[in-house]
Amino acid sequence: MLPDRFGHFDGFGGRFVPETLIYALDELEQEYKKAKKDASFIRDLNYYLREYAGRPTPLFFAKKLSQRLGMKVYLKREDLLHTGAHKINNTIGQGLLCLRMKKPRVIAETGAGQHGVATATVAALFGLKCDVYMGKEDISRQSLNVYRMKLLGAQVIPVRSGSKTLKDAMTEALRDWVTNVRQTHYVIGTVAGPHPYPELVRDFQSVIGREAKKQILEKEGRLPDCLVACVGGGSNAMGLFHSFFNDKKVKFIGVEAGGKGLKLGEHAATLVTGSIGVLHGAKSNLLEDKYGQVSLTHSISAGLDYPGVGPEHAYYKKIGRAAYVAVSDKEALEGFRLLSEEEGIIPALESAHAVSYLAKLGKRLKKNSIVIVCVSGRGDKDMGIVTKKLKI
Ligand SMILES: *Cc1c(COP(=O)(O)O)cnc(C)c1O
Repeated sequence: MLPDRFGHFDGFGGRFVPETLIYALDELEQEYKKAKKDASFIRDLNYYLREYAGRPTPLFFAKKLSQRLGMKVYLKREDLLHTGAHKINNTIGQGLLCLRMKKPRVIAETGAGQHGVATATVAALFGLKCDVYMGKEDISRQSLNVYRMKLLGAQVIPVRSGSKTLKDAMTEALRDWVTNVRQTHYVIGTVAGPHPYPELVRDFQSVIGREAKKQILEKEGRLPDCLVACVGGGSNAMGLFHSFFNDKKVKFIGVEAGGKGLKLGEHAATLVTGSIGVLHGAKSNLLEDKYGQVSLTHSISAGLDYPGVGPEHAYYKKIGRAAYVAVSDKEALEGFRLLSEEEGIIPALESAHAVSYLAKLGKRLKKNSIVIVCVSGRGDKDMGIVTKKLKI
């Protein structure tokens, strides 16, 4: 089972960080290894996932959507979780690890503010001090989430460097961690970053796929033909895929943000178009310009707007275990409307990318194929953008 003990997924991943962080990463890795085998940690984790976050989430058979698309579509309803997305699965896990390490403070980076809110929520719950790094640009785009984080007792620190967005926020958070590492745990929000984060976040999110597998076996008596999830950094997708890794007949499809088109700077389709390089402490796929500088990205959904991707996805791509595709802003809006109209479920724009791809997939699948789609979050946060873009 990968990663190996250096955090490598067949050449991807690893630790490309300043020397000063190695101790903290080692400490986190050791604590996590112990926690995994500690019945009281597992009990606490399951307790908060159930009683606080609202797990297990339903695997809902989308009847009308299925009829329309000519396949059996099941929706894994992560949108029903507390705070409205899958991110809480990970922040609860890392919050508990932070308590075990007796660190009084957490920091996080956030783009749209979803991970910031999920971290601030858990910090409030567990009595931790919380500072969230957020690009200046994102702060003005996502004022509601900024207010939410403040209400939850977190401090939001504006990042004015670079493009003033998520990647710069992550850089600043890493810098803070180097300085304050003894008192501080850095809660990374996706399956990216230096080892052990990609493994750790994957494990905390893999509850999605474990539940889905049990639920589909109960409902259909067999495994699905295909799993579909959107990919920003890749945590909801990896969370769904991972438990099915050895079930070779189950196809994985990761849907990236195709933005306005596949010209550099106009999308965030890292695996579809990117190259191999190092970003935020790990080797993976990323988007870079001809000078090797990390490229600007665009997506209608802020949660997918990131020029990197988790190293395990780069590995899945390399070995052909998963296929990665891109869906444009326009198509995502169609997916947004489709799920709202057919099932009465308004998805996050991120999740709408995955839903939108089903229409293309339908043409390639055999009749009565079973497909599970991860509805990673709910759409309330996106209404401002959608009212401007979608004519009703
Ligand atoms: C953050 C977010 C994503 C993208 O992150 P991944 O790590 O790729 O899962 C997707 N959907 C929602 C609702 C999000 O909040």
